[in-house]
Amino acid sequence: MSAQDFHGSTGAAGVPAADDDDLLFLPEGPEAGPERIASPQRWRVLAVDDDRDFQRSTAFALSGMRVLGRRIELLQAYGHAEAARLLAGERDIAVMLLDVVMETDDAGLRLARAVREVLGNAELRIVLVTGQPGLAPVHEVMERYDINDYWTKSELGVERLHTLLTAGVRAWEQLRTVARARRGLQMIVEASNVLVGARSLRDFSARTIAEIASVLGVPPEGVVCVRRARDDGRVIGAAGRYARSVDRPLEALEPAGVREAIRHCLQERRTLVLADCMVLYFPAELAGAEYAAWVEIERSLDDTEQELLRVFALNIGSGLHNVALFSRLDDLAYRDQLLGLPNRNALLRALESALGSAARHHTALLLIDIDNFSGVNLTLGPAYGDALLKRIGERLRDGFDPTVLLARLGGDVFGALGPVERLDPESVAALFADGAPSAADGGAWSVGTARLPLAEFTGTALEALASATLLLKQAKLRGHGQHQDWLPEIAVAAGRRFALLQALREALARDEIGIELQPQIDLATGTVTGVEALARWQRADGTRVAPDAFIPLAEATGLIVPLGEHFIELACAAAARLAAAGHGHIRVAVNVSAVQSARADLVASIERQLLASGAEARQMEIELTETVAMQNFGAVTDTLERLRARGLTVAIDDFGTGFSSLAYLRRLPADLIKIDRSFVQELGNGGESRTEIAELIIRLAERLGLRVLAEGVETEAQAGWLRMHGCHYAQGWLYARAMPLDALLDWLARRERAGT
Ligand code: C2E
Ligand code: CA
Ligand code: CA
Repeated sequence: MSAQDFHGSTGAAGVPAADDDDLLFLPEGPEAGPERIASPQRWRVLAVDDDRDFQRSTAFALSGMRVLGRRIELLQAYGHAEAARLLAGERDIAVMLLDVVMETDDAGLRLARAVREVLGNAELRIVLVTGQPGLAPVHEVMERYDINDYWTKSELGVERLHTLLTAGVRAWEQLRTVARARRGLQMIVEASNVLVGARSLRDFSARTIAEIASVLGVPPEGVVCVRRARDDGRVIGAAGRYARSVDRPLEALEPAGVREAIRHCLQERRTLVLADCMVLYFPAELAGAEYAAWVEIERSLDDTEQELLRVFALNIGSGLHNVALFSRLDDLAYRDQLLGLPNRNALLRALESALGSAARHHTALLLIDIDNFSGVNLTLGPAYGDALLKRIGERLRDGFDPTVLLARLGGDVFGALGPVERLDPESVAALFADGAPSAADGGAWSVGTARLPLAEFTGTALEALASATLLLKQAKLRGHGQHQDWLPEIAVAAGRRFALLQALREALARDEIGIELQPQIDLATGTVTGVEALARWQRADGTRVAPDAFIPLAEATGLIVPLGEHFIELACAAAARLAAAGHGHIRVAVNVSAVQSARADLVASIERQLLASGAEARQMEIELTETVAMQNFGAVTDTLERLRARGLTVAIDDFGTGFSSLAYLRRLPADLIKIDRSFVQELGNGGESRTEIAELIIRLAERLGLRVLAEGVETEAQAGWLRMHGCHYAQGWLYARAMPLDALLDWLARRERAGT
């Protein structure tokens, strides 16, 4: 091949041909860099000289030359600017033969400086060439720009060129390896930082593949597989065309070549480097379980790259472990363990991020409540109820588009968060209309639904959920199968609620919230056996806010926890004062809400207050509504048992409104049942059928060995009926309204004097 052919075939600069810029000015993309080797079997040399004769003779001299077993590919530039452009686009030039004097006396030196300081190319070997002897640059300049050699043109024969190019390419290659390793390590550090943010194994695996691909400069194509005990391998993450294999067993992975490579890696327990791919192995000691990451690489990897990947694997192995632990924790915290669906926390988390993004304008929250579900629990038992809930959950999951997050909020209430148009209440209702979840479950089912478009909402995630819950309550009040949409009036009501909540916070801080005590009477003897502590909020202007208005608000927002603690403190103080006044046998009952009873620290908090006040445990009673006791049965039973072991008594409030399963009721650690006011109201006015429930409750209590108290007793007729039917205690306006502690002490003293 002649020198001329050589020029033409490479499209070297300076040869005036149409194909000039085909190869020379490659765009700077992510793939441009030392890793992209243009023609690996040739060393690339750049000659920069405005002297065409010299260029021609150089080309001729190099045309047949082999250096360290490879040919030379010559690039040529005829001036300072042209050379700079060329060098900016091509990083894998090994040696530059540079004429010192071109446009100006120091054009060559300026180029050398630009290469080092502007282009940041420290690897290129620079050999200065000059036509005039005696123009040698000072030593200091050569050192500063790392100029490796200096020759006059007349000295540059073929032999000398060969020698200096051999030294040049050898040095360049070494420098390049070091530089790449340094860059690779930097990439590993950066990649590891990216991976720290991953929350799930799936996310982590996909990012791992992407980072390996970016370190190697190849498109991200790969699969990550885990092998645990009793499991032959499962794809947990993938990128590129393998993405649809995620969450499936390894044996289902296609094509067979990939599957076999992964199997081989897991069998051999080591990283494999194959012709078109690499399979990284992560041992269990490092990663918590055995992992194999298969990554497609269209070209062969050199030693440095292989080494880099091993370092990378070591670096992220422990990351895999952490992410696996984290995702298990995340699962426990954010997944409903019965249904396997996201739970209330998960919905709140998603709600929060939706509220904070532009997506809020077309996102809505839909709540779904299964009508009459508690009836099923009561009649068919909790195991049946659980199985039914699972089927309901599946039916809902299948009924929604995958863009919708479906969560179980607790009990039989579900929440769906997604695009407004995907949350159509009618199609949700239709999911259950045909007797689903199964005809055997008693024919058609209906659901109550409520929908809150986030666009209309200006509050926190918790407030949005509270508002939607309020809407759902309104739907349920209208009967079965009802839907409630967000209305402007509701927004006004919500606004009022939030103003009230703010006022409540301040009232608690200013100590404007107290208790009043309502006596409880033994129906057989007429003696006072206890008092119920009822919350009272009197505002600075003397007006009162009813507990029915502020307690649910406090419950929905978590303020009930400090508030409840405040009530316990006041109740204990009241018990201590009663004892001091000679009424140590009178028990003080405190209402405890759902949120409080589910907290592990309730017992400790009561202990603390007992100790601080000097009241005795046997003076205290805890009131818990039936619904609360049933909803979180395990945790609540545990708390109640510990309280009873300490000597407190436990009352089940509002009994008869919750339709508990008898099986649960039998296991509930309680001492007393309170018949709800609504049943008591029906007594003593002659209507036979209306007394049935009260009577049933008294019989049930008898069988379970529990005492019974009737609330809301307003007339002698009611009291008479209750006494006759074996009810033990009564509480109501017939005897006394709730009153402040001082008034109660007076009231008790008056009763004593009157001899009752
Ligand atoms: P509850 O626990 O069922 O309390 C009994 C309610 O019935 C009280 O209303 C009481 O004033 C009222 N009442 C008592 N006797 C009669 C009567 O003869 N006739 C009629 N019509 N009503 C009677 P109040 O004080 O308005 O409390 C309402 C609800 O607020 C309570 O129902 C309870 O669920 C909640 N609550 C009150 N204080 C607290 C508290 O300290 N903590 C918690 N968590 N909830 C509380
Ligand atoms: Ca109560
Ligand atoms: Ca009650």
